[in-house]
Amino acid sequence: MKTIGLLGGMTSESSLVYYKLVNEMAREKLGGSHSAKSVMVSVDFGEIEPHMERGEWERVLAFMIGASRAVEKGGADFLVLCTNTMHKFVDEISRGISIPILHIVDATAAGIRKAGMKKVGLLGTRFTMEEDFYKGRLLEKHGITALVPEKPAREQVHKVIMDELSRGIINPASRDAYWRIINDLAVRGAEGIILGCTEIPLLVKPKRGAIPLFDTTAIHAGAAVDLALDITEGVGGK
Ligand code: GLU
Repeated sequence: MKTIGLLGGMTSESSLVYYKLVNEMAREKLGGSHSAKSVMVSVDFGEIEPHMERGEWERVLAFMIGASRAVEKGGADFLVLCTNTMHKFVDEISRGISIPILHIVDATAAGIRKAGMKKVGLLGTRFTMEEDFYKGRLLEKHGITALVPEKPAREQVHKVIMDELSRGIINPASRDAYWRIINDLAVRGAEGIILGCTEIPLLVKPKRGAIPLFDTTAIHAGAAVDLALDITEGVGGK
């Protein structure tokens, strides 16, 4: 089994879900008392978030490269960035380490294609919804079109992530607002919705009869376990 390298703390609310899921999934696949081999380096989001909001990306990148190197030093065979937003820096981080990165967009795209979908809605931080690193990779590498909410709704989605979910606050009014935004995306032609922020699955859960949701935390954790166990599509692991 390979050792999974988790870069956590972005935020800790979802990092603990990653940790729980990789261990549960490894036990499910290997049985008995097995669990996942992993190393986690967890950053202090409070030191990073203000730089993100001010657009001081060089500072943010320095944190990411430092933490990624620490994950590698800890013995990881590959790196899992436990956040969608920081995939903005995948190329720069890759150049700073010698282990591969398991990209959250590629893992999510595999799930979307398996479901036979080509057009999906995307919810995430302002950066994930508005910049090209996420939507561009979905389209260019995987042929999947991502629709994002209109500007005021994007701001609302971002604010709920930063002011509530990242701080462990689950607010039913925010859940209702998210479902209104999801329904608007469905009306615009989305066949499914990417929960493209690792905290959103803490707020929004799949509903029977509603549009399918792609939980990036669970998908990414599952792909990490498959990679650690050398399981490829449809083939048994070891
Ligand atoms: N965990 C989040 C994500 O998946 C948002 C918090 C952050 O900006 O890192 O993008």
